[in-house]
Amino acid sequence: MKKILFLLFSLFMVKANAQISLSTDTFNRLARDYVKLGLSIGQYDSDFVDAYYGPDSLKPVLAKANVFPKDSLIKAVKQLQKKLASYLQKGSDEVLMGRAFWMKAQLTAFDQRIRIFSDEYSSFDKETKALFGVVVPRYKKEDYQRWLNELNRILPGSGTANYKFEALVDKFSIPGLKVDTLFKTAIQLSRNQTLKHLKLPADESFDLEYVKGKPWSGYNWYKGNFHSLIQLNTDVKILIERAIDVASHESYPGHHVYNTLLEQHLYKEKGWVEISLYPLFSPQSLIAEGTANYGIELVFPGDEKLRFAKEVLLPLAGMDTTGITTYFKALELKSKLNFVRNDVARGLLDGTMKTEVAQNWLIRYGLYNNESAKKSIDFIRKYRSYVINYNYGLQLVRNYVERTMGNDKSIEHRWQVFATLLSNQFTSTDLLP
Ligand SMILES: [Zn+2]
Repeated sequence: MKKILFLLFSLFMVKANAQISLSTDTFNRLARDYVKLGLSIGQYDSDFVDAYYGPDSLKPVLAKANVFPKDSLIKAVKQLQKKLASYLQKGSDEVLMGRAFWMKAQLTAFDQRIRIFSDEYSSFDKETKALFGVVVPRYKKEDYQRWLNELNRILPGSGTANYKFEALVDKFSIPGLKVDTLFKTAIQLSRNQTLKHLKLPADESFDLEYVKGKPWSGYNWYKGNFHSLIQLNTDVKILIERAIDVASHESYPGHHVYNTLLEQHLYKEKGWVEISLYPLFSPQSLIAEGTANYGIELVFPGDEKLRFAKEVLLPLAGMDTTGITTYFKALELKSKLNFVRNDVARGLLDGTMKTEVAQNWLIRYGLYNNESAKKSIDFIRKYRSYVINYNYGLQLVRNYVERTMGNDKSIEHRWQVFATLLSNQFTSTDLLP
């Protein structure tokens, strides 16, 4: 009798295991369909795929059609979302549920981006919600004016805030010949700091390239196998803080590290193929940009950035350090003004703000100069509401880390919480309180 019971029990276990593996297998098929779909959209929309390091077998086999197949792509998105819904029901396997939830949010973004690519637009707020999973706060002229007044009070000299700020900025523009040395030094320090707290694959690496004529200041092209191509744009003058911020944002512990850890832990270790595709216009970018900006604060906590600029970078470039403390204080106060770019993007995309007015807002409230304001508007024309990921993404990540840390506010714990963000599938909802 015991033997029979044992046999029955074993049979039951085999069946139960088979069911689990069947459902994981089925899910992995959906994950492959998700990747195939994303790569198909990318055949038409050249900005769609930011990185792909999965198997070649998932790449489109057919040449792209003459006309963008909007309707059939939207239909494919809906069908896939419907299939994923069965994994979102109560009692489903927890791991698969998490993956399904993540993929569903990513697919909502696919749908929105397909429409945008076909010139079908929603309001700015609906667009950010669909693409990145969030609606950003709206600020008024008066808010910016108040923050600007705060900043103006600490700026030396006389004249308008713009004039005084620009005079300060001019002192910290890096001479062209020194740019490479300073970038490399900043990346080196960011890498050393990151390696003290995070474990990265031994063979991770990057190449650095200088480019011109781009709407962005830096870009990380993740190539897979823990390798990145980092491009830095030398079109506009490079300021001392940008050398530090862009270096860290694109490399360590920014985009290069984020992609590396996802590939290592989710793709190579767990075989989650969906992560091998990074669609640029998706909630993943809110996490990517938010963590890349937050990472700068981790590498340079407190006054460390000021100290690094004053004691290392400026002397290395043979530049005068007078006024650097005030300059960094001004930059800190100016960070609130960065939100003006969201409101300008909203105005431009909703058609409630003319280009000229948008440019004036950026100059007046964001302390841009003519050149950088134009560049910023070019960026908005190309990447649209993507701008929100930098400032709002940073705010969400910073708040998430603070909240999750609890009472242990040590640097080490901060890095640990940060590392979980870089090594798991997070959605925008996960970041919200
Ligand atoms: Zn970025």
